[in-house]
Amino acid sequence: MPRKTKLICTLGPATETEETIGSLIDAGTNVFRLNMSHAKHEWAAEMTRLVRKQAAQRDAHIAVLFDLTGPSIRTGDLPEPFSLQLGDTVEFRKQGSEPSVDFSTTVNYDGLMADVAVGNTLVVDNGALLMRISSVEADRIRCEVKTPGKMGSRRHINLPGVRLNLPALTEKDHKDLALAVECEADYIAGSFVRDAAHVRELRDAMEALEGESQIVAKVEDQEAVKHIDSIIQEADVIMIARGDLGTEVEFEELPLLQRRIIRRCHELGTRVIVATQLLESMITAPTPTRAEVTDVMNAAYEEADALMLSGETSVGRYPVSCIETLVRIATRIERSGGHGFGQSMLLRDERQKVARAAVSLADSLPDARLVVLTRRGVLANQVAMLRPKTSGFYAVTPRDKVCRQLALTRGATAIKLSFSSNIEETIARLTQLMLKHDMVRSGTPIVIVSDIHSDHFAANSILLHHA
Ligand code: PGA
Ligand code: MN
Repeated sequence: MPRKTKLICTLGPATETEETIGSLIDAGTNVFRLNMSHAKHEWAAEMTRLVRKQAAQRDAHIAVLFDLTGPSIRTGDLPEPFSLQLGDTVEFRKQGSEPSVDFSTTVNYDGLMADVAVGNTLVVDNGALLMRISSVEADRIRCEVKTPGKMGSRRHINLPGVRLNLPALTEKDHKDLALAVECEADYIAGSFVRDAAHVRELRDAMEALEGESQIVAKVEDQEAVKHIDSIIQEADVIMIARGDLGTEVEFEELPLLQRRIIRRCHELGTRVIVATQLLESMITAPTPTRAEVTDVMNAAYEEADALMLSGETSVGRYPVSCIETLVRIATRIERSGGHGFGQSMLLRDERQKVARAAVSLADSLPDARLVVLTRRGVLANQVAMLRPKTSGFYAVTPRDKVCRQLALTRGATAIKLSFSSNIEETIARLTQLMLKHDMVRSGTPIVIVSDIHSDHFAANSILLHHA
């Protein structure tokens, strides 16, 4: 039976050869992520080509996700890193202004001085350095170092709880977005989205370029958490970006936020990814820590749609083992059951109620398969959100793009099949194909639900068929 939890693998120097990409697909990768904070355009286009080529050789539906940098705040370029001691003063100033203390660097966001206040905490390099803002002037802020350490060039700055007036998309994001559309990205992720308007802005910009990608909203700070409902409703997929989110909130809040966001995604019917540090120690070690095993198991138990690896596969020493490790843990927990958040989905229209009835029927028949006939994938995602128990859950669609976009949907196996105008013929061809690929045996019950119209099959109907 197929695995339900989908796996996302970030490509990087450790995984950029065609052969490794093929091995990652064989090990169980469903989606490849290109992190535009690091990727050059030529490289990203080449990786997309290699992924598609390797996927085609295997007849596999593998998706590509372009992850835009978003409006992150970064420290300036330094000739060499600052060695900071407790109590030292560090200055962050507008570009073009003169330093006024020894440890002074520029910052890439001119609005910073207007957004912060004395007493705010400033976190550098994902928590490696903590500072307290001690003075704010029109063109600079000064901070007192609270934890000693080294500060290098272009380090990421977080300001927990501070409302920033950054734009949704930077100039660089617009350029990267154009590339993503050109490469026909299956998904485009927006980083540091703070409300639904930011998600809409990304979608509008993508559609203006005539792109057909689905939009992933990365939840990375307290502002996004505050607006979580409207973001969930606006996005196609939510990513719980635990790297930044875990810096922006007290760390003991993170597991509760993760669970709350996953639950809310279930209720509102939006797919959800759990990202970052799932197997962090495997960047250098061949096996995971026991705590990591437990964390991965928890995310799979919460029935997230997908789990995402970052450094583990982009720069780590054991990229393929990391995917194998996730496969082992996910399939083990799937055998023992999940949290059951699927029960809490709010059924707002007839179509969703029909989907619920189909899932109940399939779950009540021993060894049944569940098939969704879907043109755009919408009904397939809704059925998946109800978390059917059968792992024989197939989404049948005539479109390649939709097959690839279902690569993120928990439990769904996409099947490409053109629909005939006669539903009986469509079902006959589908049954043949499923028999041929050992998805069913002769006599296996198949519950078919569809929102397509045809001569003999009304939208929103359920059909029980035997192979
Ligand atoms: P990043 O996003 O890897 O692009 O920073 C993920 C996260 O913050 O967890
Ligand atoms: Mn992030």
